[in-house]
Amino acid sequence: MNSLFSALPTTVFETMSALARQHDAVNLGQGFPDDPGPRDVREKAAEAVLNGWNQYPPMMGTPELRRAVADHYRGWQGLDLDPDTEVMVTSGATEAIAGALLALIEPGDEVVLFQPLYDAYLPLVRRAGGVPRLVRLVPPHWRLTEEALAEAFTPRTKLVLFNNPHNPTGRVFDAGELALLAHFCTRSGAALVSDEVWEHVIFDGREHRSVLALPGMRERAVKIGSAGKIFGMTGWKVGFVCAAPELMRVLSKAHQFLTFTTPPALQHAVAYGLGKERDWFLGTREGLQRSRDRLAEGLGALGFPVLPSAGTYFLNVDLAPLDPGLRDEAFCRSLVAREGVAAIPVSAFYAEQPVETVVRFCFAKTDATIDQALERLSGFA
Ligand code: GLN
Repeated sequence: MNSLFSALPTTVFETMSALARQHDAVNLGQGFPDDPGPRDVREKAAEAVLNGWNQYPPMMGTPELRRAVADHYRGWQGLDLDPDTEVMVTSGATEAIAGALLALIEPGDEVVLFQPLYDAYLPLVRRAGGVPRLVRLVPPHWRLTEEALAEAFTPRTKLVLFNNPHNPTGRVFDAGELALLAHFCTRSGAALVSDEVWEHVIFDGREHRSVLALPGMRERAVKIGSAGKIFGMTGWKVGFVCAAPELMRVLSKAHQFLTFTTPPALQHAVAYGLGKERDWFLGTREGLQRSRDRLAEGLGALGFPVLPSAGTYFLNVDLAPLDPGLRDEAFCRSLVAREGVAAIPVSAFYAEQPVETVVRFCFAKTDATIDQALERLSGFA
């Protein structure tokens, strides 16, 4: 048995969702929307299944979807991608991340990561033989500083695993922080693998900046996207990887022996969806922004100190000003059992020196769900 993996706890998302079911709680833990997703995109998938799109599609993804991805990113992010050599479809972003790590690092290579980190990253880095170097971000600003980067990068840095917009903090890193990161990557010759699955879930008129558009990064960055997040259908597990041809040749070798392909009917529907008019994407953002504000205002009115959220489905509250002795995990366990609301303790996203006073809530929910959660939370305040 593999002791690294057998020693791992069950992912916090699975644990909290199980507790939510057990206590019949409103689940604001695991990040998934209440909304079923755009009907036209779902119809395209259903039609494609019935019309026989059910055998192995090409290993790199259907030509139709690869072209749609390149067109979409040209329109939205100004990227110039060759669909034949620079775009690959994967079975979700997590496969893309795992594949990139397997393909790009050798045992002993150092990998720079940012904590709080999405819980899959660290076990995958370790299993690929990488030696993690953690940059610690702290509330309330969660800023990326030159000092922290200078400490994490060494001559052995081979890869950086980055996430922007950032789960769980809801931060969208600014131009200065991205320039700093690009500077450190080019100086050390490291590859930059960027999990950009929340690229369309950004608020207050922000525009997403991909690492592929940063100076000096076109040849060394791997951009990862997710249809599940773009269309709010998290179970679809259709991801895209964009990278220069030389990197893509290696990345595709990992993909061909991980999942090889991704359901063709879903690829067909995603290709259609990526071509939807601009207003659909902006309207979806507006709807989520309204939900963010509804939850933030409600939590604020109950006395919870709410941290800003610029993107993702998540906002955080900092318990420290309420009661410095309150720990996020104990708070979440008690919240789900006693008040019937599930949330995620942010300490679960740290590998060392955890911040233990911050709790993450998912706001990608109907008004009724948010109001019900707030009503229950009023018992705690
Ligand atoms: N990305 C989701 C979240 O952050 C969880 C995905 C999962 O359950 N593994 O809530």
